[in-house]
Amino acid sequence: MLLAAAGFAVTVYEAHPTVGGRTRRIELGDYRFDCGPTFFMMPYVLEEIFAATGRRLCDYAELKRLDPMYRLLIGQPNGDPVVINATQDIERMSRQLSAIEPSDGPAFERFIRDNRRKLEVMTPILRRPIRGLADFLSADMLRAGPALRPWQSLYDHLKGYFKHDGVRLAMSFQSKYLGMSPFECPELFSILPFIEYEYGVWHPIGGCNALTQAMADAATEMGTSIRCGEPVERILFQGNKACGVVVNGTEYRHDHVVVNADAAWALKNLIPDALRPRALKDATLDSKRYSCSTFMMYLGIEGEVDLPHHTIYTSRSYVENLKDIAERGTLSEDPSTYVCNPSRLDPTLAPAGHSALYVLVPTPNDKPGHCKVDWEQSKAELRERTLKQLESVFGITDIRSRIRAEHLVTPADWKSERIAHGATFNLAHNLGQMLHRRPQHRLQGFDNLWLVGGGTHPGSGLPVIFLSSEITTNLMCAEAGVPSPL
Ligand SMILES: Cc1cc2nc3c(=O)[nH]c(=O)nc-3n(C[C@H](O)[C@H](O)[C@H](O)COP(=O)(O)OP(=O)(O)OC[C@H]3O[C@@H](n4cnc5c(N)ncnc54)[C@H](O)[C@@H]3O)c2cc1C
Repeated sequence: MLLAAAGFAVTVYEAHPTVGGRTRRIELGDYRFDCGPTFFMMPYVLEEIFAATGRRLCDYAELKRLDPMYRLLIGQPNGDPVVINATQDIERMSRQLSAIEPSDGPAFERFIRDNRRKLEVMTPILRRPIRGLADFLSADMLRAGPALRPWQSLYDHLKGYFKHDGVRLAMSFQSKYLGMSPFECPELFSILPFIEYEYGVWHPIGGCNALTQAMADAATEMGTSIRCGEPVERILFQGNKACGVVVNGTEYRHDHVVVNADAAWALKNLIPDALRPRALKDATLDSKRYSCSTFMMYLGIEGEVDLPHHTIYTSRSYVENLKDIAERGTLSEDPSTYVCNPSRLDPTLAPAGHSALYVLVPTPNDKPGHCKVDWEQSKAELRERTLKQLESVFGITDIRSRIRAEHLVTPADWKSERIAHGATFNLAHNLGQMLHRRPQHRLQGFDNLWLVGGGTHPGSGLPVIFLSSEITTNLMCAEAGVPSPL
């Protein structure tokens, strides 16, 4: 959209038969599901992209604000889970937390105030390319410095606010959005829970996939050619300058190549190793850390399901579950699990009187040497374990007899979709792989070759991949000497 608005003639080669990537629609008969994202946050970023092209997002998609934003079931080693209905009503939220631990309600209000300031100072960093120390040590960063302690983990940072372990989890499980554990995720990401409470959690009617479809519609209106079912086999080079792509054996010449495929996968598979600088060679990419993966169940259910839009259960052995995922590469007896029940709010997703249920279980990624799970063999066991959880933890007692459609996805399936190691949330977001240490928007070592999406700065998640598209557009426009539409 942005490049078309800047006057470039754009062709999108999309490997899948449909648009959207991880944010595409899955259809099972009359049931419709989001493949990946279900939480839409910071809608203002996408609004500004539509505005830059002279359009309004509201003319293309209908957004519903959720209240409560989600229900948290925080598993306890002994006894029932602690229940929190997360709401943007800060007073109501504070009262809920005080009922769990008297000092945690007032601490929440302080946390929100502090993070408002933190996001303010971090915003310029999120919106700019960070190509090296010079960008990193810019005036913005120095201004941000006193508010940031990037060496501290998110969880340790929260100890400075909250006494109750469950409340700390309520303000840190969001690190899972980056595929990371709160015990290793840098404290910079305390802005994630803040962003939810400040800007809300939204459901686009039709699901988040309606947004990528809306973007495809807008881009097409501007003359972009979107060629679905056309996987790029390799990028063409003259020396180190990208000059086109090969698709189904045919060479297509282009002045610039912008790679939106999973960055680690694309670097390894579309660009010869010999051309890449050391930082991007196979051996270096293999030594990187990758996010977790997910086991997914998409279920068409007869009848209503008595659950809020989003319900997140955190394991009663949370620390062990995280170790299984990140260190041991094994499955857990009682994993954290997330269930989305969107058809109560959005009747476009299931036939009348039915429900379209989305279930996500974080798992180890499929990196060789790390993953101990044979996904094909474990699939039936994972399904059974998850159904048991839906009955015992989420209270859907009669679910088995009501399943009318079903689709399962394992980390091996994600991997087969050209996602490196099936790591659904890209390269991990530890400090050593953030900012200028991620593959860069103007790919280092090349000319006319650009990156966009979750593998580059700022990272994984819808709002930030949209920010990355703004950064790439600004850099390309500057290099081509044309005004940016932003
Ligand atoms: C299960 C799951 C749940 C998530 N939940 C949330 C959430 O609730 N909220 C949120 O904000 N984020 C969420 N995310 C993260 C979010 O989906 C990603 O950050 C984002 O979609 C990544 O976008 P991308 O453009 O980088 O990659 P993708 O969406 O993967 O897009 C890459 C595109 O490139 C195409 N491609 C790959 N190789 C080729 C090739 N050789 N030739 C042509 N095309 C190719 C792919 O088919 C794909 O369409 C979730 C992700 C997953 C997987």
